[in-house]
Amino acid sequence: MLKIDGAMGEGGGQVLRTSLTLSLVTGTPFEIEGIRANRSRPGLLRQHLTAVEAAAAVGGAVVEGAELRSSSLRFAPKGLRAGEYHFAVGTAGSAGLVFQTVMPALLKASGPSRLVLEGGTHNPSAPPFEFLASAYAPLVRRLGGGLELELERPGFYPAGGGRFVARITPPAGGELRPLALLERGGEVEEREACALVAHLPRSIGEREARKLVDLLGWPGGEVRVEEAESSAGPGNCVWIRAKWPYVTEVFSGFGEKGVKAEDVAKAAVDAYRHYLSVDAPVGVHMTDQLMLLLALAGAGRFRSLPPSLHARTNAEVISRFLPVDVRFEAEEGPGRVWSVRVVSREA
Ligand code: ATP
Repeated sequence: MLKIDGAMGEGGGQVLRTSLTLSLVTGTPFEIEGIRANRSRPGLLRQHLTAVEAAAAVGGAVVEGAELRSSSLRFAPKGLRAGEYHFAVGTAGSAGLVFQTVMPALLKASGPSRLVLEGGTHNPSAPPFEFLASAYAPLVRRLGGGLELELERPGFYPAGGGRFVARITPPAGGELRPLALLERGGEVEEREACALVAHLPRSIGEREARKLVDLLGWPGGEVRVEEAESSAGPGNCVWIRAKWPYVTEVFSGFGEKGVKAEDVAKAAVDAYRHYLSVDAPVGVHMTDQLMLLLALAGAGRFRSLPPSLHARTNAEVISRFLPVDVRFEAEEGPGRVWSVRVVSREA
């Protein structure tokens, strides 16, 4: 049984989630200790426990230690099962992270799957729904997988209750194809920015929209305010979507008590500008998420912004599970552009 140290690198929930995904794909059982050891509330929280339960359902796994606040877990999958699943976090914990735990494995299953996911859909420190739908899903499709996402209602901290549906189809022939994502491919082709407000005064969204227009210099028609009546509770997220010929990225800021609306808009714009400051197609968050997909494809490469501790930790976890004939490399080139590659050892 593979032993994983939950405190490695960043020591957060990603070590667990990536281990679950790769255990499902490779069939390798694993044991993890010190789950989320470097977090202020270590151990399994609702979101992580739901990810464990989701992975166990998808992989028919035998699991020990799947309890709230547990700091260790043993996970032994028996075989992937495509099908219909419903996973509810039960709190405002990120449903998107639960989705990302099982989705890559279901791309390797024997047929299509449909997932209904409930919880938070717009959480700080997690991919918001628009990132998954507009930035992540197109890359999965480029790799040959089928992925369609539909938001039924947004969910924010603390009420949660968001819901989205994912339709996953494994690639024709069963194997993902290698991806080379080396440049954006030219000028922006499409762009939009949105201030999403749920059960809060519309004026918050309007202030954010004004700030977005001001900072981005985009015409008002590309910036909008959307009121989410269907949300179970109050919440606010600003997102910016920009599409280039070869890649789409989504940058976000999240409303919080005590944070001015203008600062929420500015956080999203800062993330966008940071991305533009380096001439590479893959942004800070996409880097760690794409690494995992390329590892599943067995080969591929991309150019990215400097990898975060999160991404470097993810690379380390991935290499623990990779088959021996595949290796993972990342190196810095000129202009702070990084080159990340998954190569077969024969290459
Ligand atoms: P925890 O231990 O609390 O579960 P974690 O280490 O699992 O934390 P984070 O490091 O905060 O979680 O990140 C979780 C994932 O969400 C990562 O894949 C990260 O790239 C992604 N992510 C975070 N913020 C964003 C964002 N604004 N847009 C897209 N993806 C994001």
